[in-house]
Amino acid sequence: MSAIGDRLLERIGREGPVSVAAFMAEALFDPRDGFYATKNPIGAGEDFITAPVISQMFGELIGLWCVQAWMDLGQPRPFRLAELGPGTGAMMADALRAARAAPGLIDAVDVTLVEASAALKMVQGRTLTPAGVMTGWADRIESVPAGPAVILGNEFLDCLPVRQAVKSGGAWRERMVGLDPEDPARLAFGTGPVLSPEDAALIAPALRDAADGSLAEIRPGDRQVVDALAARFTQHPGRALFIDYGPAEPETGDTLQALKAHEKVDVLSEPGTADLTARVDFASLAAAAREAGLDVHGPVTQAQFLSQMGIEVRAAALLRANPDRKQEIARQLWRLTDGEQMGSLFKVIALSSPGLPAPPGFDAHG
Ligand code: SAH
Repeated sequence: MSAIGDRLLERIGREGPVSVAAFMAEALFDPRDGFYATKNPIGAGEDFITAPVISQMFGELIGLWCVQAWMDLGQPRPFRLAELGPGTGAMMADALRAARAAPGLIDAVDVTLVEASAALKMVQGRTLTPAGVMTGWADRIESVPAGPAVILGNEFLDCLPVRQAVKSGGAWRERMVGLDPEDPARLAFGTGPVLSPEDAALIAPALRDAADGSLAEIRPGDRQVVDALAARFTQHPGRALFIDYGPAEPETGDTLQALKAHEKVDVLSEPGTADLTARVDFASLAAAAREAGLDVHGPVTQAQFLSQMGIEVRAAALLRANPDRKQEIARQLWRLTDGEQMGSLFKVIALSSPGLPAPPGFDAHG
């Protein structure tokens, strides 16, 4: 068992089971032993890989999207560009390079990285030094300095702690992590108390009447992010872009997964040593954003978005400049856009203060 696993076994033995969300928060963000606390887990030789690390084209197209967003906001100066969970900083570095096409933006921009991991802050600092723009860090979205803003998040929402509920005897109950009754040296899932009516109301309406035995996920973190954006965007105009994996419509089922060295591993066996994520429920995210007064565009698939942002043209230009990298660039394009790769499971959604022009990348006919 891992260090966090041992501590959980001891604490659960003393105090009883914890919710899936509490388990996930501790496994990922415990300041000493959490998965994100001590190292950079993102890269081909690490635990998992993400779109900006697969290809510079991804961040570059996001950069062009930011240029249009800045223009739609009326070219404010200063202008806040924030990224939630920037990982290695690759997406921001590529985006800023592409945004140099709009010199006014680079002169006006002030970058804030919202990052929980001390280890990743160091990596981000190194990646972004050459970009030569003002960069600061914040621990939470609410601490991004005030002003007109564009806020980005790639694979950020999927690692926010998720609650799980199981329908049993006609009622939704919290799914818990406790001790395995057959082997108290191991963790096991179990069911806890019946959800309060307020908590049961957090389950997507389409899932509430699911049959006994069904599992539904609740994503309180998404709601917090939406509320923070709504509060911010009523003060100063802004626009947010999220790219993540998950279905367009709510689905029942356990989507919590653990990834270590690019392989799926058991969620409970060694907490703190594997990445934990759960699928984003884009329909609920969109509904919460509309309810909070934001304009919503999407979700569309990552393939649709990148294609409308011109990824084929960008790939052709890269190829012309690097003819010796033909296979590599073709493979990157395929990984980002193919339906069996990241093209359809990954979705893109934009949340904006009301009344801005429609953002690029979300044309229904594209
Ligand atoms: N966007 C990057 C990294 C994705 S991994 C990429 O695409 O490569 C998730 C990132 O979110 C990590 O940087 C992690 O440390 C950060 N993170 C997760 N939850 C967070 C939270 N609540 N506050 C701040 N950062 C968080």
